[in-house]
Amino acid sequence: MQIVYNYFTVSSLLIFITSTLFGVVVVSKNPKKLINIAFGMFALSVSGWSLFYYIWQISSTEDQALLYTRILMAFAIFIPANYFFIVLTLLDKLRQKLWLLITAYAASFIFLGLVFTPLMVKSIEHTKYHDFWPIAGSAFGVFLLIWFLIVLYPSFLLYKAYKESKNVDRKRQILLILVGISIAVLGGSTNYFQWYHVSIPPLGNIIGPIWVVLISYAVIKHNLLNIKLIITEIALYLINGILLIEILSAKNLSEFIFRILLLIMAIYVSYLAIKSIRHEIKQKENLKELTNQLAQANEHLKELDAMKTEFVSLASHELLTPVSAIEGYLSMLLDEKLAKVDDPKAVQYLDRVYGASKRLARLVSDMLNVSRIEEGRLLVEKKDVDLTTLVKQVSEELKFKAEEGKQKIEFANPDGWSTFGDADKIKEVMVNLIGNSIKYSKDPGTITISIEKVPTEKVQEAWAEVEKSIKTRPLDDQEAIKSAVDEKLKRLVGKEQILIKVKDEGIGIPKEELPKLFKKFHRVGDYTTAESQGTGLGLYISRALVELHHGRIWADSEGSHHGSTFIFSLPELENKKEIEELEAQVPKKGDMKPLARPAKQAEE
Ligand code: ADP
Repeated sequence: MQIVYNYFTVSSLLIFITSTLFGVVVVSKNPKKLINIAFGMFALSVSGWSLFYYIWQISSTEDQALLYTRILMAFAIFIPANYFFIVLTLLDKLRQKLWLLITAYAASFIFLGLVFTPLMVKSIEHTKYHDFWPIAGSAFGVFLLIWFLIVLYPSFLLYKAYKESKNVDRKRQILLILVGISIAVLGGSTNYFQWYHVSIPPLGNIIGPIWVVLISYAVIKHNLLNIKLIITEIALYLINGILLIEILSAKNLSEFIFRILLLIMAIYVSYLAIKSIRHEIKQKENLKELTNQLAQANEHLKELDAMKTEFVSLASHELLTPVSAIEGYLSMLLDEKLAKVDDPKAVQYLDRVYGASKRLARLVSDMLNVSRIEEGRLLVEKKDVDLTTLVKQVSEELKFKAEEGKQKIEFANPDGWSTFGDADKIKEVMVNLIGNSIKYSKDPGTITISIEKVPTEKVQEAWAEVEKSIKTRPLDDQEAIKSAVDEKLKRLVGKEQILIKVKDEGIGIPKEELPKLFKKFHRVGDYTTAESQGTGLGLYISRALVELHHGRIWADSEGSHHGSTFIFSLPELENKKEIEELEAQVPKKGDMKPLARPAKQAEE
């Protein structure tokens, strides 16, 4: 036996090395996973075939050549069935087609039984390419037929899956295997020509590595094994392997020791490199897992939130009818013309019940409005709005209440200010803010309403400031940033914004409370105190209404007893077109008219 370097020996060695390496790597990644086992078996059949192909090439007698061609055939027989196994596992069809696979393996075993008889490889002859070329036995033709049947059927399954699959990654993977296998079948079949004295070289030898590499790549991708790690590992194995060979060819002792040291160092560095890549992959996988879990939890929370909103909406609807009835009958009882209640104590109690029922009615209608806003179903009908007239109207309507609270309402800007919006909603915001100013002012004072125009950046800056101060707070407070309004609807439009300010000289708001005011149900201080009755929903609703108008709302105060200023922005009328375009992009969800919000001051 002598080592010969020619096309046949080199190509078969190449196939042996590549398929063994890929087989070992893939199986060692996860020896329990079926697809990896299938690939391992496939690689074993290919590497066994190629190893004995090589040994056959270097055999020096006919007897040796006969034995080695028979052994190489013993491995080759299993290539189609193993390929079938890979494809079925890959396409998740193993259970469905298990019997077909078992039949394929059974056929392979029958041929294995024949491989050492003259029925498969009859004898050895001398040909143009080989010194010792096998001559086919009488069962060889049947074997070839079955070989192609077993190869073609899974290829057909792959083709079908390729056509049907909508997933781009999956399609690519199937295509890779299809291309790999067709190259292999075409190339591999050329190996059989010479068995029948057709003078075509055995191209399968040189094509073999491509087949192995393509299929391995596809399997690795499917398994989400990290290709980076595999390439690094292979490169390191090769380097260490070369270093090992180098040691054996050392010319003297010092060279020998030097090379051993080099190998030890290389092995150590390889170990570190692989360890760090593995660590990195593990971290990535963990992160992916966590992100998935988080996304799922988030979905679940969204569902819960929607359910809660729906529940509140339903419950409020059901509550509203009896509450309105109670309120109606109480008002009749208190009306001297309609009913007579003699006991002044009873009148006093009835009066309190009446006040409480009004508050209850307001709470219910507030909650209904909140659920409509949060479901995105609040009806907003935008038209040209003359703000000057609107502010004057609101001040006029609240004048009486203001006087009762010893407050004077002043509006300093007579100029024509106009915006594009829903007058009723803007009015509700104004009523709410002025109402609060009256309610939260104990001493006589003035409520000043002013309007001005500022560059959009100013509003952005003020809002960024509010957001920044909320973000540094505990999670619970950060709820205040959450907006019930779609981002597109919230977007500021135009170069300038109209700013409306409502300034009072009332009880003021502590600085740390300012960013939280617009949070749902938030009330400053202890709301069991009789003097501060309310729902804590007014400002939350106002914020949503302002944002539905592409505006922002925030508050300012020098602290307790220094009065407060509430500021909100609205777009200028000239940006009407842009606003309409923006809103056309947001899908409508079946609008619902808001419920009238009973005036806050009436309850006091
Ligand atoms: P409600 O007034 O029904 O409690 P709001 O959402 O309108 O609910 O107001 C939330 C809280 O903000 C109030 O409870 C009050 O503590 C505070 N607040 C609002 N406006 C003023 C104001 N002008 N001066 C002082 N505090 C105010």
